[in-house]
Amino acid sequence: MSKIIVANWKMNGSFEFIEEFFQSFESTTNHTLIFCPPFPYISAIKSHGFSLGAQDCSPHTHGAYTGDISAKMIKDIGADYVIVGHSERRHYHGESSQLIKDKATVALDAGLTPIICVGESHQVRQSGSHIQFVIDQLQASLPDHRQNILVAYEPVWAIGTGLTASPDDIGEMHAALRNILPTTPLLYGGSVNQENASVILALDNVEGVLVGGASLKPQELNQIVKS
Ligand code: PEP
Repeated sequence: MSKIIVANWKMNGSFEFIEEFFQSFESTTNHTLIFCPPFPYISAIKSHGFSLGAQDCSPHTHGAYTGDISAKMIKDIGADYVIVGHSERRHYHGESSQLIKDKATVALDAGLTPIICVGESHQVRQSGSHIQFVIDQLQASLPDHRQNILVAYEPVWAIGTGLTASPDDIGEMHAALRNILPTTPLLYGGSVNQENASVILALDNVEGVLVGGASLKPQELNQIVKS
């Protein structure tokens, strides 16, 4: 079954890196593979024929917002997706769920598919309230029109830490998300790598994965795509 694999390069890469990466990355695949490099490199990846996404967008359409990049501009350079609400943006930039909702809404208006990220901290998971926390965060982050969106469950404690949520943890959360979004593709993210990708991608209610660190290694991403 065809899956969605999002490669989130975060703030990594250079023209040199991209050239070397695609010399070793050869996957031809029936899956939907979406590269999300930093803004300046989106165009540089276009010729490789994969889907493209940005890692963030402005909640505004245009105007005096120095440093912001609008969803329409992202669409203009040939991307079809944008990640919104990544935990690193929620944490380092203090982004609220209302702001994520606004970003997802302008993304949809511009013809982009927003990839809306949600996930609980270690502290919330330990308190046992993770399901309710993530549901509340999701409800507050969702745009009013819910067609053409993707949702990524990314437990904060699993991002970039080498700790992956167990299949039971992922299954439990995705079942809860499925109750709210019966037809939306649901992705899992959090230390996905070539060893765990096939197990995660085989789980019920998991239509894809969002991969950070491992997506910067061409051979490893190849293996994930072949999972
Ligand atoms: C991410 O970037 O959202 C992510 C899940 O990163 P990593 O795969 O490195 O944990």
